[in-house]
Amino acid sequence: MALALYDTLRRERVTFEPLEPGCARMYTCGPTVHDFAHIGNLRTFLFEDLLRRVLEARGYDVTQVMNLTDVDDKIIQKARASGETIAEFTSRYTQAFFEDLTTLRVERAEHYPTATGHIDAMVDLVKRLEAAGHTYRTDDGSIWFRIASFPGYGKLSRIDLSGMRDGARVESDEYDKEDPKDFALWKAAKPGEEAWDSGFGRGRPGWHIECSAMSMAYLGETFDIHTGGVDNIFPHHENEIAQSEAATGRPFARIWLHAEHLIVDGQKMAKSLGNFFTLRDLLERGYRPRAIRYLLLSVHYRQQLNFTFAGLDQAAASIERLSDFVRRVEELPPGAAPVEELAARSHRAREAFEEALDDDLNTSRALAAVFEWVRDANRAIDEGRASAADRPALEAVLEAFDAVYDVLTPDAEELRLDEGIQALIDEREAARRERDWNRADALRGRLEELGIVVEDTPAGPRWKRSPGA
Ligand code: AMP
Ligand code: ZN
Repeated sequence: MALALYDTLRRERVTFEPLEPGCARMYTCGPTVHDFAHIGNLRTFLFEDLLRRVLEARGYDVTQVMNLTDVDDKIIQKARASGETIAEFTSRYTQAFFEDLTTLRVERAEHYPTATGHIDAMVDLVKRLEAAGHTYRTDDGSIWFRIASFPGYGKLSRIDLSGMRDGARVESDEYDKEDPKDFALWKAAKPGEEAWDSGFGRGRPGWHIECSAMSMAYLGETFDIHTGGVDNIFPHHENEIAQSEAATGRPFARIWLHAEHLIVDGQKMAKSLGNFFTLRDLLERGYRPRAIRYLLLSVHYRQQLNFTFAGLDQAAASIERLSDFVRRVEELPPGAAPVEELAARSHRAREAFEEALDDDLNTSRALAAVFEWVRDANRAIDEGRASAADRPALEAVLEAFDAVYDVLTPDAEELRLDEGIQALIDEREAARRERDWNRADALRGRLEELGIVVEDTPAGPRWKRSPGA
C-alpha cells in the first residue's frame, strides 16, 4: 500500500510520490536556540522522527534538513544580557537540543544548518528577489518583501488577508512599511548589534528567509516534504512559499505537513504562558525517556495532545506491558514446529500496523494493532501453545514496531537501576538459601517500595516493575 499524507496546501490526503523515485527530501523547521526546548517543541520533532522512520521503513533514502535559528531579536537581547557573543550564548542551547534528541532517540537529520553559517545564501536569495522586483527598502536600510508582488500569497494558510491591514500590529520600527503584512528579508543593524555585511548594508537576515535559503541550498528549489508545527503555517511558511516561488518561479515544497500542538489545560504549551515542562523537568521527576517518547508519539499528529502526568503514567505502563511480552517471547520453551495460526495472526498484525501508518501516520491505530496482537499472542503463550519455534514470527512484528517507535530497549539509566534491583534480588536469594527469613522479607519489602514485583519461578526469581512505577 502506498503512503498517504495530509497536505496542508491542498487540504487533502495525497499519495506520497517523491520527485526522484526512492528518495525522500524533507525540510523540518528547527528550534530557535535561545532556551531549552519544551516538550511541545519536542512533540513536533518526534512527529518528524516518526515520519522519517516510516519513510525509511518503506525503503526511501531520506535526506532531512533541520535548521537551527541561532540569530534573532530574542537571541541578540539575551546574549547581550548575559555578556556573551551570540555564538557563545547559542552553543549552550544547541548542545542541550542535541542532548534532548539523543535522550528521546530521535534519529539525526542529515543536515543541521545554522542561520549564521548561511548568511551568504540568504543574501543571494534577497538579491535575486530584488532583481525580480519583489522588494523595497525602508529609510533605516532594511529590505522588505512586497507581498502584493506575489499573487499566490495566502494559498497555504487561506487566511482572509483583507482584514489584516487594519488589524495587524505594526511595530514601531516598521512604520514605513508599505503594507503591514510585508515582512523583513534583511534587517538593518541597530547600534551595538552583531551584524553581517551584504551588498545592501550591514544587518542580519529575517527569520523566514533562513528556511527558504537553507532548504533550497540542501534540497533543491523544489523538494518533497516541508513540515513544522501548526503555528508555523502563518506567517512563517506562507512567507517561505512567497520568497522561494517568487525567486525561482517554481513550486517550492510539494507536500506540507503540520503537527498540532501539545496543550495543557486547553492551552498551547508555550514559554510565554509559563505552562511548560522541559524534558529535563520530567526526567528530574523520575520519568523514563522512552515513556516520554511513547506518550508524545501516541496521538495522531493532526490532533492536539493534552499533556497530563496520568497520561505519562499510562505510557509507562504500556511500555511495561510490551517489555513483559518481549521477555516472554525470549523465554519461550523449546518446540518442534511453529504454530500456523500464530504466524498468520502475526502477519496480519504487521499488515494492520503498516497500513495504519501508511494512512497519514495513524499512530493510535498502529499501536492498537500491536496491542491487540500482544493480547492474542499472550493468550497463546498462557495456554502453552507457543514455543521457541514461533519466535521468528513474533519477533518480526516487534522489529517492525520498534523500527518506528523505538521504545523496547531500556534507557541507560534504567539499566543502571536494573543492576541495583538485581543486586537486591540476589541478596534476597542468598538470605533465603541461608533461611534468614527476616532478612529475605525485609529485602522483599524494600523491592516493593521500589515498585518491583518478584515472582519465584522454577527457573529462579523473576522481577518486573508494577505498572506506573
Ligand atoms: P521554536 O523553537 O519556538 O521555533 O519552535 C520549534 C518548533 O516547535 C516549531 O515547529 C513549533 O511549531 C513547535 N511548537 C511550539 N510550541 C508547540 C506546542 N505547544 N506543541 C507542539 N509544537 C510546538
Ligand atoms: Zn522554518
